[in-house]
Amino acid sequence: MSSTEDVPSLLLVEDDAVLGPLVAELLGIDYRIRLVANGRDGLHAGLTEVWDVMIIDRGLPGMDGVELIKALRSKGITVPILILTALGSTQDKVDGLDAGANDYMTKPFDAAELNARLRALTRSFTLPRTSLGIGDWELDTASRSIRSVYGPLVSLTAKETELLAALASEPERVFTRDELITSLFQPTDQPGVIDTYVHHLRRKISKAVVRTVHGVGYQIGDAHE
Ligand code: CA
Repeated sequence: MSSTEDVPSLLLVEDDAVLGPLVAELLGIDYRIRLVANGRDGLHAGLTEVWDVMIIDRGLPGMDGVELIKALRSKGITVPILILTALGSTQDKVDGLDAGANDYMTKPFDAAELNARLRALTRSFTLPRTSLGIGDWELDTASRSIRSVYGPLVSLTAKETELLAALASEPERVFTRDELITSLFQPTDQPGVIDTYVHHLRRKISKAVVRTVHGVGYQIGDAHE
């Protein structure tokens, strides 16, 4: 998706019938834009596709901007988000940033400033994305997500991503729990934490995504059932 496009992808969630299309047109030269006009559509698009940046209006029908950002963050979506708020509402800005937005702009806003803020938020876009193949699945460590050829995009937490990436980096190798604890977790963490993460990954992706090698540890699987 976005990783193969020349321009970054931008999800714009704005219900204002004038402002939405205006911003989309304004930024359409530099970004591949999808405009959706309510929070629920924003959540669906945010969870099912990979985006380089999002602009989310504070006041939205269906699910407001702050709720939307919280929902995306709780699902492990780490994409930079700029929240649009009404002029002068400090509490809106605080709420937006606390919910997980990276930046905000107040309406009405200056187009050049919006562009500059988006450039700052997407600066890492030029860095190569890291993707690792796991059977039919492709793990994208930059966006912390995994997807199969046919299935939906599955969002992962930072630790889930690190664990999968570590296992997938050496597919032939069986890792002991102690090795995984040492490289990925705190020395004070118990080896059982690895089992917990493996359990989460199997539930989210497939039972076969990680193979248990009895008496030894874990190895990357092929992600088939
Ligand atoms: Ca609005």
